[in-house]
Amino acid sequence: MRVNGTIQECIDNGYTIRAYCPNGHNKAIDLVALADRLGGDHSALRDALLPKLRCSKCGEKANAVIASPPSRADGWPERNR
Ligand SMILES: [Zn+2]
Repeated sequence: MRVNGTIQECIDNGYTIRAYCPNGHNKAIDLVALADRLGGDHSALRDALLPKLRCSKCGEKANAVIASPPSRADGWPERNR
């Protein structure tokens, strides 16, 4: 089983992380840039990331992050079949 415990592991596994702010904005996080800033071994868990993320549109702190697995070539995650 692959883990996404750190930012670097999320990059290696091809995950994307999207951050949401309380005012309805959301943005895919540039994980490579985030790893540059925080270090690749920084925790990628929600509680560790939220305080580090601020909305680029309104300046609010993010209130949710959602990690998505890499999209498969045939378009659907395994569990939906
Ligand atoms: Zn916002």
